[in-house]
Amino acid sequence: MQERCDLHTHTLASDGSDSPEALVKMASQIGLKAVAVTDHDTIDGLCEAIAAGRRYGIEVIAGVELSVVAPKGNMHILGYFIDKSSESLIKTLKTVQEARKRRNPLIVERLNSMGIPVTMDMLERLSQGGQIGRPHFARALLELGAVKTVQEAFDRFLKRGASAYVPKSVLSPREAIDEIRKAKGIAALAHPFSLRCDSDEELREIAAELKGYGLSGMECYYSEHSRAFTDRLIDMCKGLDLVVTGGTDYHGKAKPYIRLGEGKGSLSIPYSCVEALRARWEASFA
Ligand code: AMP
Ligand code: FE
Ligand code: FE
Ligand code: ZN
Repeated sequence: MQERCDLHTHTLASDGSDSPEALVKMASQIGLKAVAVTDHDTIDGLCEAIAAGRRYGIEVIAGVELSVVAPKGNMHILGYFIDKSSESLIKTLKTVQEARKRRNPLIVERLNSMGIPVTMDMLERLSQGGQIGRPHFARALLELGAVKTVQEAFDRFLKRGASAYVPKSVLSPREAIDEIRKAKGIAALAHPFSLRCDSDEELREIAAELKGYGLSGMECYYSEHSRAFTDRLIDMCKGLDLVVTGGTDYHGKAKPYIRLGEGKGSLSIPYSCVEALRARWEASFA
């Protein structure tokens, strides 16, 4: 059987529901050869994940997922093989985390003004000490009976342009890629579908621009990508000399319909993605 990996996962350090240890253990149990832990704007889960990787005999790749400013949709940049002791990355993450902390009470205020009694205490309980993100707001709205599903919470209140949306990104795509490279990491564009491009050509232009800033890869295999879109992305990577990467964006209970390593059921991410990323890392930093 083909060796597989999952290069996009979240833990309790951000808005996933599994501890880093539990996530790595599960990755080993389902037979993955490698898993990358890529929490939103934090590397706090990496030490525990790497230690668990040694215990359970699975390769754990130190990662991060940075939210960046984009003209439309959502743009996230993944970093792989990062040096988690990088002073500049730690400093940047602190700035980004402060922007998140400023945003959260503003979302609470907006929801309160619409008569929804969500509180920061609720969010802190739901996030269990990790970075508070919109999925925690969605769970709070569910608990309060304001919505019936997480999706409804995003559509009515939380997604870009919705009534309680408050932007948080402070990094430009170029800054995010720079920061990842300064931390000796390899940068990849996460879930290209979320850029909401009107055409493949528009996406190709954005990817080419990001490549100019030092982007090395693009997430082609992804839970929300159709087979046809994945194939077109793989072609685009060939044309732009970008590494094909892939991940499920596993969040545990925060996104119960996404399973580690297999997404909605049919995803299978070849380990060759890791080998190609590592080759880029070696070419740049070894
Ligand atoms: P934040 O980091 O607070 O901006 O929240 C980002 C998180 O919200 C990511 O984990 C996304 O997967 C999730 N998210 C963003 N948009 C949606 C959506 N429309 N439906 C469900 N989850 C979403
Ligand atoms: Fe998330
Ligand atoms: Fe993302
Ligand atoms: Zn993610």
